[in-house]
Amino acid sequence: MTARTVELLAIPDPAAGQLHRLRPQFVDRRVEQGFQEASLAETRSGTLLLATAGMIAALVTLYGGWTHLPHDHPAYLLGQGIRATLLLGAFAGMIVALRARHHETLLWTGTLLLALGCLTLSLRMTTPPPADAAQLEALFHLNRDGATLLLILAVAVLTLIVGHFLLNALLLVLALASFLAIVNAWPNGVDNTASFNYAFTTGYMFVLALGQGIQRIRRQVYVTRLQLQEANAQLLEQATRDYLTNCFNRRHFFTVAEAEMDRAGRHESPLSIAVMDLDHFKNVNDRHGHACGDSVLKQVVAVVQNGLRRSDILARIGGEEFCLLLPETDLEEARALTERLRRTIATTRFRHGDLELDVSASFGIARCQPDEQQIDTLLERADRALYEAKRGGRNQVRLASEPPGVTPPKP
Ligand code: GH3
Ligand code: MG
Ligand code: MG
Repeated sequence: MTARTVELLAIPDPAAGQLHRLRPQFVDRRVEQGFQEASLAETRSGTLLLATAGMIAALVTLYGGWTHLPHDHPAYLLGQGIRATLLLGAFAGMIVALRARHHETLLWTGTLLLALGCLTLSLRMTTPPPADAAQLEALFHLNRDGATLLLILAVAVLTLIVGHFLLNALLLVLALASFLAIVNAWPNGVDNTASFNYAFTTGYMFVLALGQGIQRIRRQVYVTRLQLQEANAQLLEQATRDYLTNCFNRRHFFTVAEAEMDRAGRHESPLSIAVMDLDHFKNVNDRHGHACGDSVLKQVVAVVQNGLRRSDILARIGGEEFCLLLPETDLEEARALTERLRRTIATTRFRHGDLELDVSASFGIARCQPDEQQIDTLLERADRALYEAKRGGRNQVRLASEPPGVTPPKP
């Protein structure tokens, strides 16, 4: 796992919302947001399905005559009120499901629908209450069956909101227990309403538990894909970057340089390269050690990189030898740029621990010719100019002479 993925997965986000805090498996809000964006369509379909089921349940229980109470009984009116609320809620839920742009909105809508559905399901449908039943008992299944049903449904709703592994497991156990209760009770001729409610709840819980399980697997797949993308990006980075200084490496330089030469040829745009070699760098290592040399190399790269445009490419092509690829830059502009870099390096105080060091660099620059296609020949001319700079006393910039038959560009 890469550092960025570790960071993505591990750092808690203080701005995380309430739902996020309730869900322990959502380690990071950004990962969760990414997952939610990727699965918005599925959540929308799920909420729509729930709203449709709620609407059907409300219609059937409203008009199916599934009530034993006289129509002017207050409990009957309250029961019909609850069913009507589910009907309206399901209708509103359908609209939200179709229009909502956020995963969280859909999730809360689904949870509300589920709670309303649970409330409706727990209403007495056909079984008459005992003669001495209180009003609430006449309305709800407040006997043992009803209480069990309400408990199961409460766990189901809680599982949907919190999505915790243990609750999910509990849900499955309860679903299994209620399934066994149905199987056990059926041969003896069970109460219609209770068996209908148990069967419905069992099936519903299985679906919910399975849905939660699938959701968890999908989230895991999403996170794994994220890690894979990170790993690929890092591999690509490693393949193109120098491990010490983090500027581009020799291989990447050659790939990009040939493409840039081709582009410059087609568009007739100027392209220059500069070769930079640190002066007497062996002395730095000999006097202060290799670690100090490494540290200076990194600092020099940082200084050079700071003075470049975004389109310029800096690559380490040898130990303390670097190459600059300068698109849209003619020889005179390349000279001005490298002269500025040379001066900055020469006047910067490089540090390693308590040590302060002065370092200088020599540059050789060459311009790409219109018909030039090989980076080798261009590099060779820049290298010759670098050699001239070294011979001339170091800490200087030299221009490569143009190849025979080429008129030098006008200043
Ligand atoms: P010159 O001015 O002629 O370039 O002198 P120089 O001492 O820099 O000579 P040259 O370029 O031939 O030597 C390169 C030295 O750079 C050899 C080695 O000690 C050092 N060097 C090369 N790669 C690394 C590196 O990765 N880390 C460190 N610390 N030193 C390196
Ligand atoms: Mg050197
Ligand atoms: Mg060298």
